[in-house]
Amino acid sequence: MTVTDRMDVASTLADAIIEGPRGYDGVVGDAAWAAEIRRLADLRGATLLAHNYQLPAIQDVADHVGDSLALSRIAAEAPEDTIVFCGVHFMAETAKILSPDKTVLIPDQRAGCSLADSITAEQLQEWKDDYPDAVVVSYVNTTAAVKALTDICCTSSNAVDVVASIDPDREVLFCPDQFLGAHVKRVTGRQNMQIWAGECHVHAGINGDELAEQARSHPGADLFVHPECGCATSALYLAGEGAVPAEQVKILSTGGMLDAARETGARQVLVATEVGMLHQLRRAAPDVEFLAVNDRASCPYMKMITPAALLRCLLDGADEVHVDPETAARARASVERMIAIGQPGGGE
Ligand code: SF4
Repeated sequence: MTVTDRMDVASTLADAIIEGPRGYDGVVGDAAWAAEIRRLADLRGATLLAHNYQLPAIQDVADHVGDSLALSRIAAEAPEDTIVFCGVHFMAETAKILSPDKTVLIPDQRAGCSLADSITAEQLQEWKDDYPDAVVVSYVNTTAAVKALTDICCTSSNAVDVVASIDPDREVLFCPDQFLGAHVKRVTGRQNMQIWAGECHVHAGINGDELAEQARSHPGADLFVHPECGCATSALYLAGEGAVPAEQVKILSTGGMLDAARETGARQVLVATEVGMLHQLRRAAPDVEFLAVNDRASCPYMKMITPAALLRCLLDGADEVHVDPETAARARASVERMIAIGQPGGGE
């Protein structure tokens, strides 16, 4: 079957797609759309992966929902040759780095990440030139080009272990998340560690006052903090600073958060991460009330993966993610060094 045939088959919905400067629109994520997406995915022989921060309709239609590293590993093991990654661009790049022989598609390549964009490969190279003997540790929210200049990647689940594994006499350059860097420096007590001043601007709204106020006004509630997101690394830092009572704070990976949701005795749970995560939590524990610490903590880049964008992706086989083989090989080495050191969790 050719691409033209596919477009003919799906023409009723395809005609509704509107392209604007902020993304694709015009298609409702209803049952008819979901059936069409599943049919097109089968025709294309594609696996659909959705990040936890995707719109509920995108999560519900996907084959797998999870965080970035877990999804990239699923991509590498999937029997299908085509991966559709519903997430932001650096995540789809990571899937391509770990699955260089597969076709990796992202429904809208304009879906970026303010944290990943806070350091470019050129900036990192200049920084390295200033510290030629340093070991570079990069959070996984970075572009493939930055990973290729990195010695060891990390997630916030294993950032402390990664930094602790490095010869204490070697300088460490840590990028791009300053909150995670500050947390690691505090826990390890390491002084010879330079921290890049990057952050996720999307979630700058979650601050200590807001966390403390939410904890005060919901005294019996658990507070779940996901450590892998830009916003949550801020929360992690604030919790460490004592802005929120430590016994109320549970620092959890996504999988741990879902397990804790099923097991919690609390009637209310405050969730400090991107609001998309609430969808999975409510499905896991329908009797618990999950409240966002900041309901404005919605990543607009993640939400660029709309029902229209996914439909267009499957119809047109676009946008394809490319990483040149040399960059991919060097980036893969930095990810593999991280995995060799310890449990990486799932990425953001
Ligand atoms: S929430 Fe922040 S760190 Fe996460 S993808 Fe969006 S911009 Fe990047």
